[in-house]
Amino acid sequence: MDRNTHQTGAQPNATLAAAGPAPALCPHLAPALDALLCQGARVLAAAPMAWSKIELEVVLDSGQPLAELPAHLLVNAVQTWTNTDAHYPLAQGLVCRACRHSLGWPLRSARAS
Ligand SMILES: [Zn+2]
Repeated sequence: MDRNTHQTGAQPNATLAAAGPAPALCPHLAPALDALLCQGARVLAAAPMAWSKIELEVVLDSGQPLAELPAHLLVNAVQTWTNTDAHYPLAQGLVCRACRHSLGWPLRSARAS
């Protein structure tokens, strides 16, 4: 399994537009995905991740800061994460420890100017 093609940074192009309906995230993360999609985020990728035993990671193109997420989205199994290591795309998101699903989006909402 070496499918890291979505880890190449910003790809605001139409090649990714075919993601279709919301990916099948676990029920703990689905409400957060829903909320972000309602805010206008789009799904860039949904793929298994090799780097941290995550079985499904959904990557969005934008999202609000973690601190502003409604508390009811952070149920028991869900933890927040932030990557500030510049070796990787700067990102933040949620991970469900129970289901090993993850939901992430860029630290800065990079709206196309
Ligand atoms: Zn879950």
